Amino acid sequence: MSLAPGLYLVATPIGNLEDITLRALRILREADRIACEDTRQTQKLLNHFEIRTPTVSYHMHNEGSRTEELLAQLKDGARIAVVSDAGTPGIADPGGQIATAAIAAGIDVFPIPGANAAISGLIASGLSTERFTFHGFLPAKAGQRKTALEELLRDGTTHIFYEAPHRIVDTLADIEAVFGPTQHVVVARELTKLHEEFLRGLTSELRSQLAERASVRGEIVLMLAPTKPESTSAEKRSSIATEVATLMKAEALSEKDALKRVARERGIGKSEAYRELQREQNRLR
Ligand code: SAM
Repeated sequence: MSLAPGLYLVATPIGNLEDITLRALRILREADRIACEDTRQTQKLLNHFEIRTPTVSYHMHNEGSRTEELLAQLKDGARIAVVSDAGTPGIADPGGQIATAAIAAGIDVFPIPGANAAISGLIASGLSTERFTFHGFLPAKAGQRKTALEELLRDGTTHIFYEAPHRIVDTLADIEAVFGPTQHVVVARELTKLHEEFLRGLTSELRSQLAERASVRGEIVLMLAPTKPESTSAEKRSSIATEVATLMKAEALSEKDALKRVARERGIGKSEAYRELQREQNRLR
């Protein structure tokens, strides 16, 4: 039976080529076109499986214009497959916009399931899989990352992040600062590849273990065991705002000087203390 018209969101391997499904191969072979995040990357996969379907680029910089073009073809009855560089399209990757547009235009959208880094990491993490939250990438900037951690981790679910290898040690340090050294974390690196590795343990242990390495390479899924709000170190500590207010009153200090003193007593920089103060104020809004 020939492939029905519509949009096919096709998952591809995240490392191990054996993780492509038989159905994905058939769809990629029979589709009229394959819209790829990076045509050169996908071409390697297509060459490996001797698939000759024409490709077209579809990435974050041309998602809008390309969606229009592909939508017109879909309306004419085309069968279009969408793939990202690796894993499931639409998950921290392009794919979502065209799926939404196709649904709005009454076009059939078919998920072709397969590899996904977040779920692969989660199922072998040893953490609770009953309720989990996927956050994608954390902000690259330290202050924003801490704020994101404080805001997100309050719902008692397992938390899943994608993280870059050059940031993992800093991010673990932030997790330690926000949730304390005994927060249980799992780092899943190079999933499905030759050097697949799972590190499971306390944040402080994993941070020093990774910091000792000359470099951390590869792709990473970072997971946190469910956190209870009352156990977070940020909440156990008295707030910076309270300490600043107390000092201003007791010693007639300006807010700036009081903040400087609190920063010194906590062993953190002035700008870090200021950011923490802002985060506290935002939480109260
Ligand atoms: N769409 C993909 C999916 O379904 O998992 C995710 C794409 S996202 C742009 C890429 C990030 O996913 C990487 O930076 C890394 O955090 C994570 N990732 C992808 N492949 C991985 C692997 N083999 N092992 C660990 N993490 C991986």
